[in-house]
Amino acid sequence: MDFQEILDNVEAKLTGEAHLDELARKRQDPFKILISTILSARTKDANTREATKKLFSRYKDPHEIANAPVPELEKLIYNAGFYRVKSRRIKEVAQIIENEYQGIVPDDKKDLLSLPGVGAKTANCVLVYAFKKPAIPVDTHVHRISNRLGWVQTKVPEITEKKLMEIVPKGEWIRINRLFVRFGQEICLPNNPKCKICPLNDVCPKDFSMEIALKEKKRKKNLNQ
Ligand code: SF4
Repeated sequence: MDFQEILDNVEAKLTGEAHLDELARKRQDPFKILISTILSARTKDANTREATKKLFSRYKDPHEIANAPVPELEKLIYNAGFYRVKSRRIKEVAQIIENEYQGIVPDDKKDLLSLPGVGAKTANCVLVYAFKKPAIPVDTHVHRISNRLGWVQTKVPEITEKKLMEIVPKGEWIRINRLFVRFGQEICLPNNPKCKICPLNDVCPKDFSMEIALKEKKRKKNLNQ
């Protein structure tokens, strides 16, 4: 399988820019990327963007967030959802970065994973988006699309990451999350994927066209009743 060609085809079709992709393009500092990735858990890009913007317009670095009052943090990141848990989490992470890493986010996966609430996906996002290191952050889009394409047959993201690392050439790892997040938001949607306009429909074993046609038929029938 030519992974490079497949990813090139996806890239050529995409239009938008995911939040972390935007931060990386603007060369935002690793701390902002780490905090933004924590804020992005179970929320949409637009809400993460808003929460990140508000938070960093008030507090700029680990020292300031480590010393910020929690109710103030809660207000600023409210849009990101789960704001009570997330505000405590980012404060705790900021304190550790400040006290144990001299205010500098580590670029080592083991160190990142030792931070509270930082799992494989977040650690890999920091490696990819902040440090341009090869890693495959597997979020819901990467997990779903890799399975639909038949690259892996897995039930959980942790195994998807391992399998992808075995089959995808290391030089392409860094692109997978960036491309599949947008691909999953724009074309290979969780429900009703746009297979008709998909640049991968000739290599993808999944065919949702029947399913989508049936859903559409049912929808029209319900409208006419
Ligand atoms: S053909 Fe459909 S299921 Fe396959 S990758 Fe494209 S949008 Fe996703």
